[in-house]
Amino acid sequence: MSIYLDNNATTRVAPEVLEAMLPWLGDEGYGNPSSSYGLGRAAAAALETARAQVARLAGCREDEIVFTSCGTESINTAVQAALAADPDKRHIVTTAVEHSATIKLCEHLAQRGYEITWLPVDSAGLLDPLRLEAAIRKDTALVTLLWANNETGVLFPIHEIAAIVQKKNAFLHVDAVQAFGKLPLSLGDEGIHFLSMSGHKLHAPKGVAALYVNRRARMTPFLRGSQEAGRRGGTQNVTSIVGLGAAAEIAVDHLGSRQIMEWRDAFEDFLLESVPGTTVNGDRTLRLPNTTNLSFEGIESEGALILLDADGICCSAGSACTSGLVHPSHVLKAMGLSNERARASLRFSFGRFNSASDLHRICKILPEVVEKLRALAPGKLGVSA
Ligand SMILES: *Cc1c(COP(=O)(O)O)cnc(C)c1O
Repeated sequence: MSIYLDNNATTRVAPEVLEAMLPWLGDEGYGNPSSSYGLGRAAAAALETARAQVARLAGCREDEIVFTSCGTESINTAVQAALAADPDKRHIVTTAVEHSATIKLCEHLAQRGYEITWLPVDSAGLLDPLRLEAAIRKDTALVTLLWANNETGVLFPIHEIAAIVQKKNAFLHVDAVQAFGKLPLSLGDEGIHFLSMSGHKLHAPKGVAALYVNRRARMTPFLRGSQEAGRRGGTQNVTSIVGLGAAAEIAVDHLGSRQIMEWRDAFEDFLLESVPGTTVNGDRTLRLPNTTNLSFEGIESEGALILLDADGICCSAGSACTSGLVHPSHVLKAMGLSNERARASLRFSFGRFNSASDLHRICKILPEVVEKLRALAPGKLGVSA
């Protein structure tokens, strides 16, 4: 049995979610939600139930939720909608620690004549709101940034940021793919125009997601067609959207639980005490409850992943989207870590399907793995002997 500690990469589909989805794959559930006969109406009603469930977790109105195919589509939709609203504004503010979806999109826009400001973060991964305020100009169309960082879990002060952006008359898009389902949201009260979320990060399947569009924001669709009130064309993925709704409903019930944070904290405290040369990357308080990013002096994370995998442990080095490349994480580099320490880092992200016995086993195996790797590269380590 594997121990899955990579819940920021993706999550297991919850059994209740699967159960809710199955009827929509069968011979009673295949109607097109745009059709007016009974089969279609049933599918349309299922979509609206899911929309209400997602809106409840987001703290917004149902008509502010647009279903999409993935977090990446939501991000692309929001960014192009904000840019389409005022074509004369050619400046975008983002940060140096975004998910690859935002980075690749902004790099593409830079080639198309947009000017991008990549805001730095400090050594704890935190963003200075005053610096953000100073970066917004008259021709700034959009501020787009993370709520919670996928690699470190560090949170940006979204309430404060929303107030600043509102004052400056630009659009704000928040990539909340990691925060959604882990933190309580109340979007109705925020000055946020667009917010992205994705099903597979909260125990729904891959390939289904949503975009929050504030009712006062001008919305230009990315995929043109009649569905989703003209805001996102394409026949809806009813089965997976039902799964996303079920996952959102379960997440609402778990928001108050401290179990995941207790496992994460116990794991982190144990390693800091028992494995010399361990450091936590990122602020330890302004952080998601499930994530820890750790460096182990004198190791290479690639080697650690291989040894951990042999013991059935799933975790990651940097973000899943860039692993396979040997480059150190852009997030850790932006926090000022040396290449060596960035390459010695591992991310562990807990979820509600973990158990106390997972915690016990990882606390036994990980120190052994670190020791083994250090023994292979003895000259490099300043902490032993
Ligand atoms: C996973 C992730 C995305 C991309 O979502 P997909 O549904 O996989 O396209 C975007 N941003 C963050 C912060 C993520 O963790």
